[in-house]
Amino acid sequence: MALLQISEPGGKPAKPAHRLAVGIDLGTTNSLVSASCGGKVEVLTDEQGRALLPSVVQYRAGQQPLVGSDAKQAAIEDPANTIISAKRLLGHSLDELKNSHQFRQYQFDDSRGDGSPAIMTAAGSKDPVEVSADILRRLGDIAEARLKGTLEGVVITVPAYFNDAQRQQTKDAAKLAGLEVLRLLNEPTAAAVAYGLDSQDQGNIIVFDLGGGTFDVSLLSLTKGVFEVLATGGDTNLGGDDFDQILVAHLASQAGLTAELSNQEHGELLRLANAARHSLSEQDRVEVSFRGQTLTVDAGEFAALSKDLVARTINTCRRVIRDAGLDKSEIDNIVMVGGATRMPVLRAAVAEFFGREPLTDIDPDKVVAIGAGIQADVLIGNKSPDSFLLLDVNPLSLGIETMGELVEKIIPRNTTIPVARAQEFTTFKDGQTAMSLHVVQGERELVKDCRSLARFELRDIPPMVAGAAKIRVTFQVDADGLLSVTAEELSTGKLAEIQVKPSYGLGSEDIEQMLKASQDHAEEDMKIRALVEAQVEARQLVDAIRAAEAQDGELLDQEERAALDKAVAELEQAIDSGDRNAIHEQSEALNRLSGQFAARRMDLHISRALRGERIEEVESSKE
Ligand code: ADP
Ligand code: MG
Repeated sequence: MALLQISEPGGKPAKPAHRLAVGIDLGTTNSLVSASCGGKVEVLTDEQGRALLPSVVQYRAGQQPLVGSDAKQAAIEDPANTIISAKRLLGHSLDELKNSHQFRQYQFDDSRGDGSPAIMTAAGSKDPVEVSADILRRLGDIAEARLKGTLEGVVITVPAYFNDAQRQQTKDAAKLAGLEVLRLLNEPTAAAVAYGLDSQDQGNIIVFDLGGGTFDVSLLSLTKGVFEVLATGGDTNLGGDDFDQILVAHLASQAGLTAELSNQEHGELLRLANAARHSLSEQDRVEVSFRGQTLTVDAGEFAALSKDLVARTINTCRRVIRDAGLDKSEIDNIVMVGGATRMPVLRAAVAEFFGREPLTDIDPDKVVAIGAGIQADVLIGNKSPDSFLLLDVNPLSLGIETMGELVEKIIPRNTTIPVARAQEFTTFKDGQTAMSLHVVQGERELVKDCRSLARFELRDIPPMVAGAAKIRVTFQVDADGLLSVTAEELSTGKLAEIQVKPSYGLGSEDIEQMLKASQDHAEEDMKIRALVEAQVEARQLVDAIRAAEAQDGELLDQEERAALDKAVAELEQAIDSGDRNAIHEQSEALNRLSGQFAARRMDLHISRALRGERIEEVESSKE
C-alpha cells in the first residue's frame, strides 16, 4: 500500500539585500579567510598583512589562547601546551589516538568521559573541536576587522574524504566560535570553483593537493555545473614537511654531521632546509650558512633527492583515476592546490604524467579559500543565483510514489544541496500496519516514467482508520549528494530509513533526456495526473461506503441498499473507464445518495457515545 498525501511544504522566505559572508579554508598547517571585496574574492589579511594563519594554538593559564604565528613561535619552547594539526584529531576518539606515535607529544585527558581526544594544557583540557573553534574565532575576528561589519555566515572547506563525524565536528567548532555555517564545501570543489571550472558544461578534474603534512588527490566529475567526487586518494602523512626532511639529511651530510643530529642541530637545519626549499621554487641554486659553513643545494640535486616522494604522488594519481574507472586521457583539467605544489619538480612530474600543464595561476595556498569565498558570497545572496545556479544542486527531482503510482516530488530539481525537506502522509486503508516507500527520481508524473532509486518498508504502524496515521517522510541530501530518506510514524516514533546515491549510474545525457521527456510530455502528464488523482479519491469513497455498509448496514432498508450498491457499481465502472468527467459525476451522485445514510450513522454513533461508549472503541470495532 502506498502513501496518500495530506500536506504541502511551506513557501520560501525572501532574501534581504547586502550581507557579509566569508569563506574559510581550515587547514591542517595553515588556515585562511576570504571574502568578496569590490566584486572580486580576496584572501583577507591580519593587522600585519599576513594571509596565512598557522593552524596552531597555544594555551596559557589564565590568559586568552594565542593563535597563529605567535603560537607557532611558542610551539618550540612550549610544545605541551601548543596544539598543532588539530584537524588530524577531528572525528577520532581518545581510544584511537592515545597510543598513537604521531601524537606522542600530547598528554590526553582520560577524565572527560565523553570519549573525545582532549589534550591537557595549562588552560585545562582542550578537544580538537575547541582548538578548531579558537582558530575559526581568530579568522572571524580578522574578517570582521577587515570588512568592518558583523559576519552573517561562513563557508568552511573540508577534505573530500571527511566522514560525517569529521564534518559534524567542523560544524560544531564553528558554532562554538559563534559562526553560522552556510555550508561545508569539499576542498577540491572549492579549488575548482576558484578556477571557474563550474561554468563549464562538463569535464573530469583532478585536484592535486600537497600541503604541509597531507596529500590528497580527488577526481571530480562536473556535469552541468554539478560537482561529484568520483574518487579520492592520498596519504595523510605526506607533504612539504617530508621534502624538508630529505633536505635536512642532505645538508647534514654536507656539513659533515655523521652522527644522529641533536634536537638543536635538527631544529636549525630544518629551518634552513625549509627556507632553501622555498627559494628553490624561484631559483636554481641556494646557499645557506650553517655554523660558519656555506652549504649549497641546486635544483638538480633536489630533484634527485625528492624523486621517490614525487613518484609516490604520481602513483596516487594513477590509482585514483583507475578507481574511478577512467583513463588519464579523459582528465580535462588538473588543479594544483597546497603550498608544496609550488615546487617545480612536482609541477613538472604532474605535467609529464598527464601530458598537459596543470592549472597554477591562482596562488596554491589561497585557491581553496578563494573558492570558499565565492561560494559564501553566492549563498548569502549577494550574487544572482543564475551565475551559480548549477553548483552543487540536485540535478533531477527526488520524490516518492503515492497512491495511483503517482510521483510526489519532495526535493525539486535545481534545489541547492545540502537540503532537507519533509512532508506528511497518511495511510490509505483502515488498519494498515505497513507502508512501502518507493523513492524515485525524475520530472515525470507517473512512477513508471521515472527512475526507481530504492524501496523500503515502514512496519508496525498501529492499526488505525484510513487517514488517521501520520507518517512524516523526510528527504535529506547531504553536501556529497547522498540521499537519506526516513519515514516516521509520529504517534509511536517507529522509523525506517534508507540511503542512496541518486547520481549513481546517471550520465549527463541521461539527465538531459529525462528533462526533455518531461517537457515533451508535460500536457499529457498533467491530464494523467488529474485522472489518477480523481480515481484514487473515488476509490477511497467506494471503500468508505463499503466499510460503512458492513458496519452499520442495518440502518438501510433493502431498497436503499440496492440503490447504494448500484451507485457504487456505477462509480467503479467510471473509475475503470478512465473518464474523469464520469468519475466526477458518479462520485457526486454517490455522495448525494449516501448523505442520509451518513446522517443516520452519525446519530447512531453520537447516541452510543452518550451511553458511554467512547468514539475510539466504536471506531476500532470497525474492521
Ligand atoms: P595545509 O593545507 O596542510 O594547511 P598549505 O597548503 O598551507 O598546507 O601548505 C604548506 C606547505 O607548503 C608547507 O610544507 C610549505 O613548506 C609549503 N610551501 C609554501 N610555500 C612554498 C614554496 N614557495 N615552495 C615550496 N613549498 C612551499
Ligand atoms: Mg590545504
